[in-house]
Amino acid sequence: MKTTVEPVTGRIHSWDLSTGVDGPGTRFVLFLSGCPLRCLYCANPDTWHMRDGKRTTVDEVMAEIEKYRPFITTAGGGVTLTGGEALLQPAFTAGIFRRCKELGLHTALDTSGFLGARAGDELLADTDLVLLDIKSFDVRTYRRLTGGDLSPTLNFATRLDRLGVPVWIRYVLVPGWTDDMAAVDGLGAFLAGLGNVDRVDVLPFHKLGAPKYDALGITFPLRDTPTPDPHLTERVREQFREHGLRAL
Ligand code: SF4
Repeated sequence: MKTTVEPVTGRIHSWDLSTGVDGPGTRFVLFLSGCPLRCLYCANPDTWHMRDGKRTTVDEVMAEIEKYRPFITTAGGGVTLTGGEALLQPAFTAGIFRRCKELGLHTALDTSGFLGARAGDELLADTDLVLLDIKSFDVRTYRRLTGGDLSPTLNFATRLDRLGVPVWIRYVLVPGWTDDMAAVDGLGAFLAGLGNVDRVDVLPFHKLGAPKYDALGITFPLRDTPTPDPHLTERVREQFREHGLRAL
């Protein structure tokens, strides 16, 4: 009997090229559709639902990456998978990273870590860098801000340390939400206890995603929340530095 192997498919929102923010060098950044969290400051509400994404095979993604391979390789970059939440589609993510490693491309996974348990060791072996978004170190704030629990993300962080996968932490600074001194200190102490954190990116909250909420006909919950001033941003970076971390 003849058997056919179905190609691995996933749902994608879009792709883009970026420099400096989604991992080292110039990168091919693929936005996957679907996310289990609902962060109040989310800049990409158009990626929340997997059903809205375009069904795509790993081969089709790789054909697109291939067009840019010489350019991103020369620019010291690679491929970043983000979303949405890339770990909502772990087989698709793993399939793309496997093919990238066969081509010698650097791979970065941008994730909240909420679904870290879905990332198999094989996927993480093909992951050169994890951009781990830790949205708050305060359990209650984390739940109010994201709708989810903090503990899966912290468990994923310690697992990545155990596996020796390098991590860049992303911390979105939202006045009145994530600027609490004790919570920042707690996160700094936690991260200082790990051996795989290369840097902590403190990212000032912005409202560039607001028009997307308008287009979708939903309320942007932080529309009236101020963006952080440079002094506050520097204070938080300094708090991380006091724990011996490289904060940018
Ligand atoms: S995890 Fe990312 S994509 Fe999902 S809601 Fe939060 S900010 Fe948006």
